[in-house]
Amino acid sequence: MAVLNNMQTETSSERPGLGAAPKVLRLESAALTDAGRVRANNEDSLDCDSDAGLFVVADGMGGCNAGEVASSLAVRMLLAEFRQLPLKLPGQDGCPPALSPAAMRLCTAILKANRAVFEASLQDARYAGMGTTLVTALFQGQRAVIASIGDSRVYRYRGTRLEQLTVDHTVVQEQIEYGLITPEQARFMGGRGLITRALGVEPGVEVDVQEQPLLPGDLYLLCSDGLFDMLDDQEIAAIVQAHPQGVQAMARDLVAAANDQGGYDNISLIVVRAV
Ligand code: CA
Repeated sequence: MAVLNNMQTETSSERPGLGAAPKVLRLESAALTDAGRVRANNEDSLDCDSDAGLFVVADGMGGCNAGEVASSLAVRMLLAEFRQLPLKLPGQDGCPPALSPAAMRLCTAILKANRAVFEASLQDARYAGMGTTLVTALFQGQRAVIASIGDSRVYRYRGTRLEQLTVDHTVVQEQIEYGLITPEQARFMGGRGLITRALGVEPGVEVDVQEQPLLPGDLYLLCSDGLFDMLDDQEIAAIVQAHPQGVQAMARDLVAAANDQGGYDNISLIVVRAV
């Protein structure tokens, strides 16, 4: 297991109404990436800016080492661009309309990371056509901003319910939406990894962005497909439930369970709990 971080940050927020004292949510997080049991390379990348409350997982693709280059460059550029951008920005092509300033800043940083990976792919023939998935969660105050491209996922565990917040940008997901197959059938189909959208393969990209209220006890899970191709929602939820305290052991158990099921792909995840 290549990376294990224990990150703590605080997200200050005002509780609306009643004149109540400001509520400060603390974030506990753990990040882990593992090559799995089959692949020699790990093309996933992950990182965070705990001061900003920003967490990122990317799953790269491309020949030679291009997948690793794409995912690591995307993560690095996203964090660097986010830090440099002003708090308020105009709307951008590729970002949904009517975003909050924090969400627009995140989406704009993703577009800049997209451009950086695309330009890097033009400058070296070994990297031609490289790209990466990207999922990010930005925690600010009582809000979580989720952005995604490709088939990495963000889940939220709230109360006793695990919910997939992001939609996969895959051929299989489109077939589900057209009613051609059921989600259950999709779990066992070949070609699940065929994605319809990736960061870095074109000068622009469309980013899915959503804003969610952040409640005490919420747990967010960002992960690459090496986790959820091995574990279904019930299996993921059971491991999350088994760790009401502490996110490091939860992250380790999730990776270990995916490896126990075969570990066919790189497994990367970040868990963030608001307490
Ligand atoms: Ca993968």
